[in-house]
Amino acid sequence: MSAQTGRPEVLWPLFGTLEALDGIGPKSAEALANAQIEKPRDLLFTLPNSGVDRSRRASILEVQAPAVCTVEVTVGAHNAPSQRGRPYRVMVEDAQTTFQLVFFRSHGDYLRKQLPTGQRRVVSGKVEMFDSIAQMVHPDHILTPDEAEQIPPYEPVYPLTGSLTQKAMFRATRDLLAMVPELPEWIDPALHQKEGWPAWNEALHQAHRPMSSAQVAPTSPARHRLAYDEVLAHQLTLALARAQLRRSRGRVTRGDGTRQRKVLAALEFSPTGAQTRAVAEIAEDMAQPHRMNRLLQGDVGSGKTFVALMALLAAVEAGGQGVMMAPTEILARQHLDGLRPLADQAGVVLDLLTGRDKGAARRSKLEALAAGNIQILVGTHAVFQKDVVFRDLRLAIIDEQHRFGVAQRMELGAKGEAVDVLVMTATPIPRSLALAQYGDMDVSVLDEKPPGRTPVTTALVATAKMDQVIERLRAAVAEGRQCYWVCPLVEESEVSDMTAAEERYKRLRAALGEGVVGLVHGQMPPADKDAAMARFVSGDTKVLVATTVIEVGVNVPNASIMVIERAESFGLAQLHQLRGRVGRGAAQSTCLLLYQAPLSENGRQRLEIMRETEDGFRISEEDLAMRGAGDVIGTAQSGLPRFRIADLERQAALMAVAQTDARKLLHDDPTLESDRGRAARVLLWLMEQDKAIRLISVG
Ligand code: ADP
Ligand code: MG
Repeated sequence: MSAQTGRPEVLWPLFGTLEALDGIGPKSAEALANAQIEKPRDLLFTLPNSGVDRSRRASILEVQAPAVCTVEVTVGAHNAPSQRGRPYRVMVEDAQTTFQLVFFRSHGDYLRKQLPTGQRRVVSGKVEMFDSIAQMVHPDHILTPDEAEQIPPYEPVYPLTGSLTQKAMFRATRDLLAMVPELPEWIDPALHQKEGWPAWNEALHQAHRPMSSAQVAPTSPARHRLAYDEVLAHQLTLALARAQLRRSRGRVTRGDGTRQRKVLAALEFSPTGAQTRAVAEIAEDMAQPHRMNRLLQGDVGSGKTFVALMALLAAVEAGGQGVMMAPTEILARQHLDGLRPLADQAGVVLDLLTGRDKGAARRSKLEALAAGNIQILVGTHAVFQKDVVFRDLRLAIIDEQHRFGVAQRMELGAKGEAVDVLVMTATPIPRSLALAQYGDMDVSVLDEKPPGRTPVTTALVATAKMDQVIERLRAAVAEGRQCYWVCPLVEESEVSDMTAAEERYKRLRAALGEGVVGLVHGQMPPADKDAAMARFVSGDTKVLVATTVIEVGVNVPNASIMVIERAESFGLAQLHQLRGRVGRGAAQSTCLLLYQAPLSENGRQRLEIMRETEDGFRISEEDLAMRGAGDVIGTAQSGLPRFRIADLERQAALMAVAQTDARKLLHDDPTLESDRGRAARVLLWLMEQDKAIRLISVG
């Protein structure tokens, strides 16, 4: 136990070995370990997900077969099978009727011992009618009337944990519950009272020993509380990380507005209210002496680039530099093309750095950066290579965050001493997930789209009708419209992925004419990719066949048709991103979702949501409801802890409450020294947030 360094002693038994529990030997411990249950603590947070009513009845006639019934019976005759493979039957009689206990592949000796003719037994199991004879096949319990106390009136049913039986789980958890300590309360007293939650220890007892189906529901007070404990621990960890970051020295970056005004004057549009608000929030944050760690969330086309530029200009106005990193070369170049004219207007030097910069050209850019002669740098992850040194970097922006992992976010923070960080994401994610994933950040939201967008009409079309689609495309191209044609990832192999795109390219070129159709995919040499994009942007090519490389951020306002092949194979978020590429100009836009018939029920539902709404948040909520948290953001890179009890899909509100509560607790008691603070430390240990505990500031 000495290995449990720092962990409060009261928790030690919960972090001991599972084999210490009643009925758990090496084999069952292994089965549990395979289900990620390695310590008594893990078992404690593995709750039954249903239950069986085993309340005592006088007769099986009291239940409507098929149903579980528990009755006392007098054992009658045994009918051993006359043929192999036939069942062994034992006649029994309860207070009102007779029925049969049925056993397959069972030993008569054993059964005669268990069920001696003429004696009383309590049996419990599922009663079924078979040829109008009531039967109970393999009763779950056969006990003498004295032992029958052991059958709980409502028996918890645990999720499958390998080869472990429900009986073994019941025994083990009974032992476990007996050793659960009383712990100090870490939940805010007012919240605790308002919700009517039981204390922690009591909640565990209720959750493991429910008395009715209402008590196994996630909404039961006990389970709700235990779920809250989990999300509170997670939010405390995020809040501690945030507090740590905010304590680290930042720099006051306050622009004078001169460059921003020049850009505003040169702009063809006026910013939306949401953009203005976000720009102000970011400016305010940059002007604080702590480091900014902010997320800018805005649906595709909500105009995040403008907000980014304003923030970068503020850094320049304050005498510093700014950098913006995009996930792909295409996007980095697009930022360069879009932003450079505006930067020129403001008298600011903006340049591009990507992996393609080599040799002398790269060296001279690095020199210019180090000398402060480049004030804004845009690029790919190349901008964060070791030898890229800035003279005075004030602000780092990451565009389209979902292509970067949480790890990169941390890396970026380490780059500059006191660099303010702004992460931009176009993936609308449900609030609960945003809170879970970015709870350490402050958030600005662009919840308003620039005016003048026309809604995109979305239609579902079976792949079999592809010829008709191509005919329509021919007409549209003749009218001067442009179209993206997206090919799916085939079997996750880049090679076959490329082949599919190349084949579609050939077919469309044959149908629509040479020179009208372009192609981009991930396997192309970079220069060819750029050239193909450039031809589409300039309108030389009318149809761009692409793999999902165009998914993120590409902006060609004249493109008004989006065809997505095998749409059913894409995630909703991805479809939403892709569709967001059109509807950017004044023309009426269309999105055709081609699907391979027949669609599964789920596939149909998903595509219909796309037809119904363009609201990214609504789509993400539906996606979450249908797929689950891990899938929506990709568990591996999400940084989400594995919640055992909390269910982000259904308990979203808890996450918000927990964030507010955690931040408030740390605000009032940054060192977690108060009674509640100390209780919260125990919670962090209990939830294995050991890393967070190291972040608790000492003094
Ligand atoms: P995203 O949020 O997807 O990155 P962009 O920044 O690429 O969006 O903006 C999409 C398009 O909308 C661009 O062509 C941009 O110039 C234009 N835009 C941005 N803000 C406004 C606005 N306030 N009014 C009109 N058009 C705008
Ligand atoms: Mg963008």
